[in-house]
Amino acid sequence: MINYLKAFQNVWKAFLFLHKMYGTNNILDTGIEFIKGVGPAKAELLKNELHIFTYNDLLQHYPFRYVDRTKFYTVKEINDELPYVQLKGVITRIDKKGEGRARRLIAYFQDESGKMELVWFKGIQWVEKKLQLNVPYIIFGRPTRFQNSYNIAHPELELVSEVEKSFATSLEPVYNTTEKLKARGLDSKAISKIIKTLLQQLQGKIEETLSSDIIDYLKLLPKDVALLNIHQPQNPELLNKAKLRLKFEELFFIQLKLLRNKSIRSHQYRGYNFSTIGKYFNSFYKECLPFTLTEAQKRVLREIRNDVGSNKQMNRLLQGDVGSGKTVVALMTMLMAIDNGFQACMMAPTEILANQHFNSITELVGKLDLKIALLTGSTKTSERKKILEALANGEIHIIIGTHALLEDDVVFKNLGMVIIDEQHRFGVAQRAKLWAKNTNPPHVLVMTATPIPRTLAMTLYGDLDVSVIDELPPGRKPIKTIHMTDAQRLKVFGFMKEQIALGRQIYVVYPLIKESEKLDYKDLEDGYESICRAFPLPEYKVSIVHGQMKNEAKDFEMQRFLKGETHIMVATTVIEVGVNVPNASVMVIESAERFGLSQLHQLRGRVGRGAEQSYCILITGVKLTSEARLRMDTMVRTNDGFEISEVDLKLRGPGDIEGTAQSGLLDLHIADLSKDQQILQTARNIAIELLQKDPQLQQSHHQILNKQLSYLQKKSEGWGRIS
Ligand code: ADP
Ligand code: MG
Repeated sequence: MINYLKAFQNVWKAFLFLHKMYGTNNILDTGIEFIKGVGPAKAELLKNELHIFTYNDLLQHYPFRYVDRTKFYTVKEINDELPYVQLKGVITRIDKKGEGRARRLIAYFQDESGKMELVWFKGIQWVEKKLQLNVPYIIFGRPTRFQNSYNIAHPELELVSEVEKSFATSLEPVYNTTEKLKARGLDSKAISKIIKTLLQQLQGKIEETLSSDIIDYLKLLPKDVALLNIHQPQNPELLNKAKLRLKFEELFFIQLKLLRNKSIRSHQYRGYNFSTIGKYFNSFYKECLPFTLTEAQKRVLREIRNDVGSNKQMNRLLQGDVGSGKTVVALMTMLMAIDNGFQACMMAPTEILANQHFNSITELVGKLDLKIALLTGSTKTSERKKILEALANGEIHIIIGTHALLEDDVVFKNLGMVIIDEQHRFGVAQRAKLWAKNTNPPHVLVMTATPIPRTLAMTLYGDLDVSVIDELPPGRKPIKTIHMTDAQRLKVFGFMKEQIALGRQIYVVYPLIKESEKLDYKDLEDGYESICRAFPLPEYKVSIVHGQMKNEAKDFEMQRFLKGETHIMVATTVIEVGVNVPNASVMVIESAERFGLSQLHQLRGRVGRGAEQSYCILITGVKLTSEARLRMDTMVRTNDGFEISEVDLKLRGPGDIEGTAQSGLLDLHIADLSKDQQILQTARNIAIELLQKDPQLQQSHHQILNKQLSYLQKKSEGWGRIS
C-alpha cells in the first residue's frame, strides 16, 4: 500500500512537470514586468501586495466598483443617503488650520447651488502646490456631515479640461489596491492604466475558452470583448454582459472539473460490492438499537445501502444538523462493511471526539462480538504496536481515531469503509491518504454538522453525492436562546444556580481565536476564577478544559463532567465539535460577539440533547457593531442550521466560512456564491448535460474546454482526483 502511494506521488510529480512545460505556451502566463511601463520594481510591488504575477492574474484583478462619471450632483443635493458624490465646481480659497496631528488643509469649494469644504490631513504640501483656484474641477468622494453642512475628506480631484480629454468611458473602474501601493503611485487609476495598456498589447491575442455551442446557447460575449468591458465598460449593458460571461465561465469550469473527476472516478475504480445485509447489521438493528430511527436516518441508510451494493465506489456527504443522529448512521454503515468481510475506520478531528465515538460505539454494539480499537496521538507505543498488528491481520473490525490513522504504518487487511466525521476540519490531502489504504479505494462517507448553503455545497462538494438528515430525534425541545450583556452577568449566575439545583450541568465557553493568544487564555482564566468565586466548593464543582492542557488532564476533566461529578465546565472552543453530554442543558457563551455564526450554532448544539428544556445564553458587551447584532439576533430568532448558514454566507462571504479557505476551490475572482446562485445552477446543468453527451470531452468542438481545464488544473493544487 505504501508502494501505491509512492507510485501515485511519482505520477503526480511527472504530471506537474508536464503541466509547467505546457503552461509556458500560454501568453497569459507572461510575467507582468513585460507590460509596457511596468518595470521590475512595480512588478515586484504588485506581486508582493496583490499576488499579481502574470497577465492572467492582472486581467483577473477585476474592478470591485464602477463610478458613473456621467452622474453629477450639486452641493445642495447631498444627503445622508449618498455614499459617494461627484460634483463640478471651483475652489475659491485655501487655508491651513490646526497644529500637529490636527493640522489640515481646507479648500473652499463651490458650485452654482452652494458651498462646501474639502479637507486634507495628509500630503498637505503636495495638495497645496497642486490646487488651482477658480478653475473648474470635478471632485469625487464620500461626504460626511458636520453639523448642518457636509465636507469631503481627501476627495479625488481632476481638472474638467483633463477629464474631457481622457475619458472614453463613462463608467470608471475602481480597483483594489493597498496603502503601500498608493504611496508608490499605484492607486486605482494607475492600475487601470496598466490594465488598459495590457489589453491593447493583447489585442487579437486573447483566446476564447468556452465552446461555441455554450456561447451561442447563452448568448455570451466572446472572451476578449468581456475582458475589455469588465475593465473599460463602453456602457452599462455591455458591463452587465461582461460580468455574466466571466462569472459563468468561472463557475462553469469548477463544475466541469468536479463532475468530470466524478465520472472518471466511477469509470476507473470499481467499488467493493457489499452484497449482503448480514448478521451484524441485523442483530444490531433488532437487539442493540436503543431507539427507533427517524425517517430521515432510515432514508439516508437506504441511500448508502444503494451505493455500496451497486459496484460503484461511494463518495457521499452526509449533512445533518448538530444532534440529528449521524453517529448511529455511521455505525450502521460500518456494520454493512463488516458483514461483507471488510474492515471500517472512522476518523474524527480531535481526541476528545475520537474518544467519545469510541465510547459510545463500544457501548452501542455491546452485545455484538466485535473488536473495536482506538488509535490517537496519545496511544502508548506498546499498545499501538498491538493495534497495528491486529489491524493488519484483520482481527480488528472497526478502528476509531484521529489523524493518527493516516500514518503510513497504519495498514489494514481489508479496508472497505471510511467515515470522516466533521469533515470540514480535514484537508483534502488528508482524506486522500485514507483512499490509498486498500488496493481499490474504499467507500467514503464524510459527515458534517456545519450546514452549508446549497450554492456552497455545490461548489465545495459538487463531486460528492449528498444525503441530508433533516429531522431531529423526537422529543427534543427547541433550545431557548437569550442575549444578555456583561452587566447582567449576576443575573446569569443566578439562573445557572437554579438550573444546577434542578440537577442540570452547564458549559461556559470562552473564545479562543488563536491557540497561541495569551490574551484569550487570560480571559479564560479570569473567567474561571470568577466562576469559582461565585460557585464555591463544596456545594459546586467546576471543571476546566482548554487546548494547552495535557491530553490526560483534558480527558480526566471531560470524564468527570460526563459522569456528572462536576456542575460547570469552563472551556474554550475545544468543546465545540461533537461532544455529547445529554445532561448538560445550559450553554453560556462569553464574548459571544467574537464568534462567527456557524461556531455559535455548533456551540449551542452541545446542549438540547436530553429531554429537558435547554438554554443558550449569549453574553456580549453593550456596544455591538451592526453585524455582531445581526449575528446575535439571528441566533435568538432561529435554531435552524441552514437558515443560519445562509445569513453567515451573506455576512462573511464564502471565503471565510470555516474549512473553505484551504480548499482552493473557492478562489473565486468574480462570482459571488451568495448572489450568483442562478448562474451557478445554469453552469452546473450545462456541465451535466455536456458530460452526458460527451463524457470524455472527446468531440472536436469540446477540445477548447479540455484545454482550458488542463490550464486551470495546472494552477490548482490538483487534488481533484480525490473527494
Ligand atoms: P450528531 O448528528 O450531532 O453527531 P449524535 O449522533 O451525537 O448527533 O446524536 C445525538 C444524540 O441523539 C445521541 O445521544 C444519540 O444517541 C441520540 N439519537 C440519535 N438518533 C436518535 C433517534 N432516532 N432517536 C432518539 N435519539 C437518537
Ligand atoms: Mg457528531
